[in-house]
Amino acid sequence: MKIKGFAMLGIGKTGWIEKEAPKCGPMDALVRPIVVAPCTSDIHTVWEGAIGERTDMFLGHEAVGEVMEVGELVKDFKKGDKVIVPAITPDWGDINSQRGYPMHSGDALGGWKFSNFKDGVFAELFHVNEADANLAHLPEGVDPVSAVMLTDMTTTGFHAAELAEVELGETVCVIGIGPVGLNSVMGANLKGASRIFAVGSRPNSIEVAKAYGATDIINYREGDIVEQILAKTKNIGVDKVLIAGGNVDTFAQAIKILKPGGAIGSVNYLGSGEFIKIPRVEWAVGMGHKRINGGLTPGGRYRMEKLASLVETGKYDPSKLITHRFEGFDKIEEALLLMKDKPADLIKPIVEIKW
Ligand code: NDP
Ligand code: ZN
Repeated sequence: MKIKGFAMLGIGKTGWIEKEAPKCGPMDALVRPIVVAPCTSDIHTVWEGAIGERTDMFLGHEAVGEVMEVGELVKDFKKGDKVIVPAITPDWGDINSQRGYPMHSGDALGGWKFSNFKDGVFAELFHVNEADANLAHLPEGVDPVSAVMLTDMTTTGFHAAELAEVELGETVCVIGIGPVGLNSVMGANLKGASRIFAVGSRPNSIEVAKAYGATDIINYREGDIVEQILAKTKNIGVDKVLIAGGNVDTFAQAIKILKPGGAIGSVNYLGSGEFIKIPRVEWAVGMGHKRINGGLTPGGRYRMEKLASLVETGKYDPSKLITHRFEGFDKIEEALLLMKDKPADLIKPIVEIKW
């Protein structure tokens, strides 16, 4: 059977293609998407060639779907179940998973399979490895449109706060307030940060940043963010910096605004640039205990269930991130191109699909 999907044809090239349908292994599932969202990572992958050449690979790694088939060893899911599909679907028996890094199962970034090592979710049907460990039931009362944010935006943004180990009462600066950085603001807030500086410029994002707990907005287009933050903190800086935007030079700024003993949690996908430069003096000539942690988000079932519980209990509302809604499978291309162009009023687009 052939299935249709929206694919990366090569670096800088996309299009609709048909491919042979995936096969379901004994522990796996085949899922049909009901809500999908394009990601800034798709843009780095296609238009910056950030992870190298990929040919005729279906794009997309953010989906809520309906199970169409399960392998004979799958226990907790059956045909017709509505599921949240995490962007990161590790091989849970792998040695890196056992070391505590399932997102790197197999190899660095190996848990990120969709639209990286295998066909993504912008297809009529897609394959999920280890269904019992990598799918989460969509809880009753949680809107699938909200739930699709959990698959990547929420988990990634929150992970920046985890990487920096944000603690009660700390001051935090979040650099970048696209959909990922906004979740870093929310993540820092949920972990108990006090003052939260949010760095960005788009008005919609600023509004959501405030709703998610930002206390101060810094516009990087209106002056150096280092000067602005130091001025607002009596030259002391902040306890933690979360990076969810900018480029390789952003790390130098982060080091400059970080207190000794502070930490950077970065989830930014660096699409270009050879090296990250760390300023020697502001890194306290190498002895400042200023830690730099960069990571791919965790994935899998348990992570999705925990995040969904925050939505179910009303502690977190991901629907604030959605600024553009499309209907119909064929609208995926338009939504992805919108992500590439990033109009000023965009935070995150979604596509609802009725079959
Ligand atoms: P967006 O492009 O929507 O947001 C980027 C943000 O960074 C915007 O707020 C933008 O400001 C701001 N920004 C841009 N340039 C600068 C600068 N020079 N200095 C300070 N701020 C700047 O991206 P997303 O939120 O969708 O994604 C963020 C990153 O996370 C991407 O690189 C993405 O690929 C990555 N990612 C990583 C994952 C992981 O697991 N590690 C998973 C998913 C995504 P403005 O308001 O002006 O636009
Ligand atoms: Zn993504």
